[in-house]
Amino acid sequence: MKAYDAEAISALRDKIRLIQTGNKAIYVAGPIKLPIDLDGSTIAFSWYVWLNADETTPDLACLIDRLSRVNLAEWQQSSMLVYGDMQRAEHALIRFHSICHTGDIFGSKRCDCGYQLKQSMKQIVGSGNGALFYLADHEGRGIGLFSKALAYILQENGYDTVDANLKLGFADDARDYGEAIDVLKAFRTKPVTLITNNPRKVEALVKAGMPVSGRVPLWGEASEYNVRYLMTKIARSGHMSERLQSSERWISRDERAREQEEQRRGTIHP
Ligand SMILES: [Zn+2]
Repeated sequence: MKAYDAEAISALRDKIRLIQTGNKAIYVAGPIKLPIDLDGSTIAFSWYVWLNADETTPDLACLIDRLSRVNLAEWQQSSMLVYGDMQRAEHALIRFHSICHTGDIFGSKRCDCGYQLKQSMKQIVGSGNGALFYLADHEGRGIGLFSKALAYILQENGYDTVDANLKLGFADDARDYGEAIDVLKAFRTKPVTLITNNPRKVEALVKAGMPVSGRVPLWGEASEYNVRYLMTKIARSGHMSERLQSSERWISRDERAREQEEQRRGTIHP
């Protein structure tokens, strides 16, 4: 093993914590200051990244030594963006956001992920305390980017988003929230309010013993490009549609504005 600079190791030591649950080990690095532009204002977030490990290392120098010998860029790590006093505040808004290369990065309108990402960050800031978990192994509801591209090709040939995944041999939704929940539980024991339309996320938290005090719905702007995708999420994936029962609903901008105002003011309880 290389000899590492004692000062560098000491600077890292305070910012790396180990979470051990069962036979799993998760190293969490942070907080790291991350100033983020939200609608022209610079907001100070605290950023944490975590790394799954099969085994724990006896000391930090051993961990760093391993990092330089494995190519971590080959698979992405997930991270958590914290605002306010997420750990101790009575109320905290939590969003588990699945990575979406096309929606989050390119701004694709085939889905509402890009909107949901920014909107949930704004809701967390507006509420005062919370965290956005950006889940790197959830691309295409857990099937990966290449398979998602194949699913898009099938969708262009008439299949809906659920059938496209099924035709490729995947489950409709292959996402696992265990790791993110382990990290959340290590940071917070008080109840959380989840920003989601997806009942599976609420169920996963409750099942893992995390108290959930409420849910805030989050629907993006509907367009001709994503209306079928959004309706499929409701009709086939069990997403909670609140008052979204008809396709006409998607084109009413006034109603959308009213709903967003309601979302800003309070929560819808399960
Ligand atoms: Zn997406």
